[in-house]
Amino acid sequence: MSEDFLIEGKGDEYYMQQALREAEKAYKAGEVPIGAVIVKEERIIARSWNQVETLKDATAHAEMLALTSAQSAIGDWRLEGCTVYVTKEPCPMCAGALVHCRPDRVVFGIPDPKGGAAGGWINLLDSNPPLNHKCELESGVLEEECLAILQHFFREARAKKKAERDLRKQELALGDESDSSCCSND
Ligand SMILES: [Zn+2]
Repeated sequence: MSEDFLIEGKGDEYYMQQALREAEKAYKAGEVPIGAVIVKEERIIARSWNQVETLKDATAHAEMLALTSAQSAIGDWRLEGCTVYVTKEPCPMCAGALVHCRPDRVVFGIPDPKGGAAGGWINLLDSNPPLNHKCELESGVLEEECLAILQHFFREARAKKKAERDLRKQELALGDESDSSCCSND
């Protein structure tokens, strides 16, 4: 590794690691664990995590909150010279907002072929003739780590639901038993 390379900066993986730390905050708060950071001139100017449940706001995706925070950090809605790092491919809402804020680059961890709007399902960031800005795209940065935390979250959520269902079944069964014992006593 040459010295020039080191001077160039911390690189995509470092900043994605920071986005993952935001995703961990979401995880701890019981939110779908997605995190984002926005970087300008090697400095993180905004960090955020998905807060849909916390704020009771369906628009409170990590990217949306990070965009608002970055705009107030630099005092401009134009995020020129900025790179947005997010652990999962942006949805159409976030991709639309990203185009409006005009960051240079968008880097994400996991591609989302079903609902992604950065090339997965559609591409609002790069192939968007009617829109007046294009973002350079990079996909698959720390993909395994970004996926692992999401899988962990959904596995736990499924297990919790199953435990609740089982508990309800048990309660119903107990209810039946007490009914029958009450009748047999008569
Ligand atoms: Zn979104």
